[in-house]
Amino acid sequence: MIRKTAAVWAGKATGTLSRVSRRGGGTTLPGDIARIIDPKILTRLAKDLTYGSIVVTGTNGKTTTARLLSWLLEGAGHRVVANRAGANLIFGVTAAALNRAGSDGRLKADWGVFEIDEASLPKAVDEIQPRATLVLNLFRDQLDRYGELETIAKKIEKALGAVPETSRAILNADDPRVAEIGLNLARKPLWYGLDDISVASTTLPHAADARTCPRCGSSLIFDAVYVGHDGVYRCPNHDFSRPTPEIAATNIKLDGFDSLALTIDGTRIEMPLGGLYNCYNVLAAYAAARSIDLTAAYIADRLRTFKAAFGRQERVEFRGRHLILVLSKNPAGFNETVRTAVELAQGKNFIVGLNDRKADGTDVSWIWDVDFEMLKGKADVVIPAGNRAHDLAVRLKYAGVAAEQPQTDSGKALDLLIKSTREGDTAYLLCTYTAMLDLRAELVRRGWASPYWET
Ligand SMILES: [Zn+2]
Repeated sequence: MIRKTAAVWAGKATGTLSRVSRRGGGTTLPGDIARIIDPKILTRLAKDLTYGSIVVTGTNGKTTTARLLSWLLEGAGHRVVANRAGANLIFGVTAAALNRAGSDGRLKADWGVFEIDEASLPKAVDEIQPRATLVLNLFRDQLDRYGELETIAKKIEKALGAVPETSRAILNADDPRVAEIGLNLARKPLWYGLDDISVASTTLPHAADARTCPRCGSSLIFDAVYVGHDGVYRCPNHDFSRPTPEIAATNIKLDGFDSLALTIDGTRIEMPLGGLYNCYNVLAAYAAARSIDLTAAYIADRLRTFKAAFGRQERVEFRGRHLILVLSKNPAGFNETVRTAVELAQGKNFIVGLNDRKADGTDVSWIWDVDFEMLKGKADVVIPAGNRAHDLAVRLKYAGVAAEQPQTDSGKALDLLIKSTREGDTAYLLCTYTAMLDLRAELVRRGWASPYWET
């Protein structure tokens, strides 16, 4: 106990110092320090939670899904501790827990909602012992990050196989890699999936990376494709097919980045969040919330007023233009944000931002897997930005997109946007993680947005 309290105090002091020195809002360093003093600190803090934790993992959608869950729990009167986006390694989770611990070293919250990087899931599940673990999808991320999807899938499967009986796995049936994990588990998971072919396509996008049967290696047959390689699939050799989802979304209506509506088990959900990919996030959060006994009527009512997280469809007014900031960090994610902006929102003006820092992935060759061809003939203004703006310009040229001069300076990219658009126009900022941070920092510097650690 003394060790735990000491670890909490040291962690909290580190957090205060790094916030004062403005080094990124003090999101992970306190976790590092506290774990040195007490390596079991996270396990001890997690035990203080009144009801337990929900852990969210997957390549895309973690932040939004975790935020949806926090929103639902907080609206029901629960005190929730959650980690910040981008702080989804074990240190970030530890830091979040420390931040909410009192001077007696106890974590003062009812629920923990933690988004966890796929590679960190085994450690997190072992230390946190969550009530529920959500696996959203497994897409190929930036190439240099964690290696093969199969390796990650095996690790997640092992972690989920080791949780106590009271812990529930909630899995996306539409993702072949996630389905393989769930089908191998001794205890049946709770499956969710989309069930509305009116919003499906029949062909896989260029970037789809789970085309083959995990059992026999044959090419999977897709009867419907929703997002990336997520859809309704089966193996021609009948040894593997999409599990039937118990929680399914039907009657899906999409309106650009503005809103979505879907029906789950007779309950109509309408909310201010856009894109088919967000239907998955809403469905995942719904499944988790129902698994801990929040009512369907309450969930529908509460989601109506949901507000998106930083960089996830965040809206900023900038010199008379409406900017919509949409984080786009890998081929599957980019394809969906471009598709939503072009096809559903009829977007005309874009800044596409690409950086190659550690958080973005240092190898940027993945941009060749993004179907930027969708912008061709549809977009009026496309400004390649970020420190790899020139690579992006080459990719756009090959896609037949008439792009502006590449801008490696965020300020200049925004100035060019003002020059090339009119007042009242809407522009979409589709950017990798640090490219988004850079553009946002520039908007903050010019007084058009508030610093992220205050929102
Ligand atoms: Zn097969």
